[in-house]
Amino acid sequence: MHTNLPSALQTFLDTSEIIEPTPSLIIDQRRRFTSTPDIVLQPNSVAGVQNILRFCHEHRITVTPQGGNTGLCGAAVARQGVLLNLSKLNKLREINLADNSMTVEAGMILQHAQEAADKAGRLFPLSLASEGSCQIGGNIACNAGGLNVLRYGSMRDLVLGLEIVLPNGELVSHLQPLHKNTTGYDLRHLFIGSEGTLGVITAATLKLFARPQTTATAWVGLPDIDAAVKLLTQVQGHFAERLCSFELISRFALDLSSEFSRLTKPADADWHILLELTDSVPDTGLAGQLAEYLYAHGYENSVLAQSEQERRELWTLRENISASQRNLGTSIKHDIATPISNVAGFVTECAAALKARFPDIRIVCFGHLGDGSLHYNTFLPGIMGNEVYEYEDIINTIVYEHILKHQGTIAAEHGIGEIKNHWLPRVRTESEISLMRAVKAQLDPHGIMNPDKLLP
Ligand SMILES: Cc1cc2nc3c(=O)[nH]c(=O)nc-3n(C[C@H](O)[C@H](O)[C@H](O)COP(=O)(O)OP(=O)(O)OC[C@H]3O[C@@H](n4cnc5c(N)ncnc54)[C@H](O)[C@@H]3O)c2cc1C
Repeated sequence: MHTNLPSALQTFLDTSEIIEPTPSLIIDQRRRFTSTPDIVLQPNSVAGVQNILRFCHEHRITVTPQGGNTGLCGAAVARQGVLLNLSKLNKLREINLADNSMTVEAGMILQHAQEAADKAGRLFPLSLASEGSCQIGGNIACNAGGLNVLRYGSMRDLVLGLEIVLPNGELVSHLQPLHKNTTGYDLRHLFIGSEGTLGVITAATLKLFARPQTTATAWVGLPDIDAAVKLLTQVQGHFAERLCSFELISRFALDLSSEFSRLTKPADADWHILLELTDSVPDTGLAGQLAEYLYAHGYENSVLAQSEQERRELWTLRENISASQRNLGTSIKHDIATPISNVAGFVTECAAALKARFPDIRIVCFGHLGDGSLHYNTFLPGIMGNEVYEYEDIINTIVYEHILKHQGTIAAEHGIGEIKNHWLPRVRTESEISLMRAVKAQLDPHGIMNPDKLLP
C-alpha cells in the first residue's frame, strides 16, 4: 500500500477491499491517461462505501469513483488518493413487473441489467457499444445515451430512484419505483451526469418497458444529410414511436468498417442511415410496411434485413466503426450534438473550416442522428500516436465554434471529465458555473470527490 495514505486508513480498511492497480483499472479507455492512485479499493457492500467515504472525508483524501472504466473523457482517472471501483456492488435487488421497474446495484454491467430485464419479459432499453463492460453507476454518472435515445430517452429519463453515499459517508436512499413524485427539488437529477463529483451512486431503480416482439431494420443510402433528416421526419411521421434507432454513417466511416468487419457495403452513397423499428406486439408485418414505405417514397438505394443474421451484419457495420479507426492512429474525438435540423449545416461548415486549416485532415463522422448527436473524430495523417493532442486545442476551437454557432453542445453523452472542463466557461454562463460550484461546495465541502473533473 502507498505510504502517502495515513496509516490509519491501512489499519481501518477491510483488506479484502484492497486490490491491485491492474492496467484495466488504471489505463483509460483511450490509452491517453494512466491513473496514479495511492490505493485502489473495491468495496464489498454499501456499508463499505460509507466507511471509506467517511474516513476520506475526515482525512481529506480524494476519492475517484470508477465503474467499467469505458468513459472517453478521462473522468475516472485518479491522480492520487483512492480509486474506488464499484464492480463488486453488482447485485440485482428487485424486479417489479407491476411497477415496470428494476432495482440494481451500481456496479452491475449494463449488459447484465439488460439480460435481467429480458429474463423477466421486459426491456431495459439503454444500449451502447460498450455495454459488455460499462456499469449502471457509470451510465448514470455520465447520463449515457446510445442507440435508443430517440424512443426511450437517455439515462436521465430511465432512472426512477437512486441510492447515494454522500462524501461524508451519509446514505441517501430513494429507491421507490414512483413514476410520479413532486415533493420538492428532485435531487436525483443532480447526481445524474455529475461524473462522480458529488457522491457515489450505489444502486438505482430503473424503468422497464415492453419487450419488442417485431423488428424491422433497414439500411438506406442517401446523397446528403438533408436527405437523411427528411427521411427521419417522414419515418417518424408515419411509424411514430416505433422508430427506435436512426444512425448516420458517412461514406468514409462505412469504408473503414466494411473493410474491418469483412462485410459488403449495403449501399453505395455519400451518407447512410441504419434505422430500426420495433413493435411490442407480434406479427404486425412491420418489415413489409417499412419496405413498402421506403419504395413508395423513392428510397430505392436501400436494403432491408431479411433475417436476424442480416440484421446483425448491418448492426456490426455500425458498431465496428470505432474499432475500425485504429489503423488511422490516435484521433481527436468529439461527442457533440446540435438540433437535428442544424446537423447538416454544422457538418458542411465545420469540415470546410477544418480542411482550410489542415488540408489532409480525415474526418470520421457517424452517430445518433435521431437525437442530433454525433461522433466526430478527426485524424491528422502521419501522426499516429498521442502527439496528435498537441493539435487538440486548435481542432477543438474550430469544431466547438461551429457547434456553438449551430446551437449545439460540446458534450452530448460522454460527459466533460478532465479533457473538456476548461471549455465549460465557454458553454455555460458564469452564473450557471457559480451555481454548480455552490452545489459542489454544499455536498462536498472538502472537495474530495473526483477532483479536477467536470468543473474547471
Ligand atoms: C466503444 C465505446 C462505445 C461507446 N458508446 C457510447 C454511446 O453510444 N453512448 C454513450 O453515452 N457513451 C458511450 N461510450 C462511453 C462510455 O461507455 C459511457 O460513458 C459509460 O456510461 C461509462 O460507464 P462506465 O461504467 O465505464 O464508467 P467509468 O468510465 O468507470 O466512469 C465514468 C464516470 O462516471 C463516474 N462513476 C462511475 N461509477 C460511478 C458511481 N457508481 N458513482 C458515482 N460516479 C461514478 C466516474 O467517476 C467517471 O466520472 C462508449 C465507450 C466505448 C469504449
